[in-house]
Amino acid sequence: MSPLLQKKVLVLNQNYEPLSVCRAQRAVVMVVLGKAEIVERYDSEVHSVSCVVPLPSVVRLSVYIHAPQKRVALTRRNVLRRDSYRCQYCGTRRGPMTTDHVVPRSARGRDTWTNLVCACVRCNNRKGNRTPEQAGLSLARPPRRPHPFTRITYFASVPDQRWRPYLLVGRF
Ligand SMILES: [Zn+2]
Repeated sequence: MSPLLQKKVLVLNQNYEPLSVCRAQRAVVMVVLGKAEIVERYDSEVHSVSCVVPLPSVVRLSVYIHAPQKRVALTRRNVLRRDSYRCQYCGTRRGPMTTDHVVPRSARGRDTWTNLVCACVRCNNRKGNRTPEQAGLSLARPPRRPHPFTRITYFASVPDQRWRPYLLVGRF
């Protein structure tokens, strides 16, 4: 397969909601069959036997499909990704990063999106088994559950800047 056809394509639902990511090969087939239209394109074209198709970067389905958005799994790595690997107490991005329970486990703080934040080792040690207030620390922003659309940014890591406007809808 041509490397161009392996490029990642963002698939939008008919109402422009981000739906999934697929390979350009599949997106081109959908476009040729009239099942999707090209919304944004890479600066290349794909030649097939019968036609030349601009290489899609973002396509939009011609028919709305009902697909429940999968939730982002609560994992250590996803908490760090949500917080852009930035310590939520001091703002540093110098790793290694840890996940910190805002309300400590000793005070019945649970493993939830709203109780876990990215913290540098220094802040995590300084905070210990205390709440941010008790430790004299404050959070950059309240931790929240990521919107399902952010799965796409987490897993496809936005290979093309042209995707950004379509994914902003789902940012925190
Ligand atoms: Zn820190």
